[in-house]
Amino acid sequence: MDAAIVNQTDSATFLRALEGALRDRTSSSALGLIVASVENLDHLKSVFGHGKALPLMTRLAEKLRAMIGTEDTVIRFGDAKFGIVVRELKNEGHLVLAANKILRGIKNSFDISDASLEAQMRIGATASRECSNDPDTILQQAETALLAARLDNKDFLLYEPGQTSRLKSAYGMEKEIEMALEHGEISMFYQPKVAAANRRPVGAEALMRWSCPSRGFVPPDVFIPVADETGQIESLTWFGIKAALRQCKDWSDRWGPLSVAINVTPSLVERGDLPELLNNLKGLWDVPAEQITIEVTENALMRPDESFAQLSALRETGARVSIDDFGTGYSSLSYFNSIPADELKIDKSFVMKMLDDDGYASIVRTIINLAHDFGLQVTAEGVENRATADALAALDCDYLQGYYFSRPLPQAEFITWLSTYEP
Ligand code: C2E
Ligand code: CA
Ligand code: CA
Repeated sequence: MDAAIVNQTDSATFLRALEGALRDRTSSSALGLIVASVENLDHLKSVFGHGKALPLMTRLAEKLRAMIGTEDTVIRFGDAKFGIVVRELKNEGHLVLAANKILRGIKNSFDISDASLEAQMRIGATASRECSNDPDTILQQAETALLAARLDNKDFLLYEPGQTSRLKSAYGMEKEIEMALEHGEISMFYQPKVAAANRRPVGAEALMRWSCPSRGFVPPDVFIPVADETGQIESLTWFGIKAALRQCKDWSDRWGPLSVAINVTPSLVERGDLPELLNNLKGLWDVPAEQITIEVTENALMRPDESFAQLSALRETGARVSIDDFGTGYSSLSYFNSIPADELKIDKSFVMKMLDDDGYASIVRTIINLAHDFGLQVTAEGVENRATADALAALDCDYLQGYYFSRPLPQAEFITWLSTYEP
């Protein structure tokens, strides 16, 4: 790839370049993406004419090229943006330095013909974290950071997960979520869980999907945080639980008892009306409570006094409680032996790296042993290949879930999976 592509490309071309960079990198190195937007390009065009504003973009590309490392790539995409792929990223601080360097470096005006043009640049950046190997996600994150910077009137912002929820609500997602439920745009997908020892299906995790007519597929990572902020999470969750229990009943009638795991945000757990709802629903759908698992993220344990009481109340309904994304949060060993839970779910960021990195392998091993010592079961999520499944079984992990077995599937396809899958 050329070090600097100064002609305008579309974002599909840019995504392909990004994909190449992700593929080429060594497994241990992170990659950074900077999206730099010339915010006043339209203004410059109208004041100085396209004939002078467009050469400015070429000059900026050259300047950017001179400022970044030899390994890195600058690509112009869209009308007024540059994407800068930073390879061999050591840490996020490195991105902050790079962004500041760029902002300083382009401060002075550029003389083009007889005019002096000054670019106003704004930057959003992201570091590819463990699980984001997907060029689309990385670009979306950098663009999100850029939008957030615009909203806050900052020159530069690094991507943070919270930005998405702020932005999406700022752009009217709240109304659309309201419509989504009414119009049947929300559905539940099911990702199989199998026993590690014999690879037989034991149930599925229910994962929410939103197919929005105007936005297309909206990932749950985007709309769940918005719904959590607006309070709409309650009606979404009630909808999800009802669908999951009804569909679980369906599979269990045909394949024998299978469990269903439902995600519940810490905010809803703390509110405390979940146990009553579950008690009502499990009768309605005739699903035994022990076939229902409630997954809450480890963050729910941050205020143990309140959350432990709520989780205990949930377990009194007979449902199982699983601590999701375990290992990424803040739980403390000091109260480990009193966590009212039945299962720990090891976060996929550890599982996906356990074969390449001894550090991650020992985290996984430690979590499994710790859980068993305290009488908890363990599910590993993010199992993408057979070798990982075998390694987890050898470590005595109880259940496995991941793309190796299946991606999350719509109800009908999950049933097909159950009837064709061979352990
Ligand atoms: P989570 O609960 O940690 O769910 C696991 C996520 O990992 C799912 O993403 C799943 O598709 C993905 N995954 C599963 N196996 C693999 C694998 O082998 N490799 C990789 N790379 N990924 C894998 P999804 O469905 O996009 O959900 C994202 C998050 O959104 C969930 O994370 C959960 O926190 C939230 N979420 C989804 N549905 C619901 C819901 O109904 N209610 C609530 N409160 N949260 C939900
Ligand atoms: Ca989960
Ligand atoms: Ca997880």
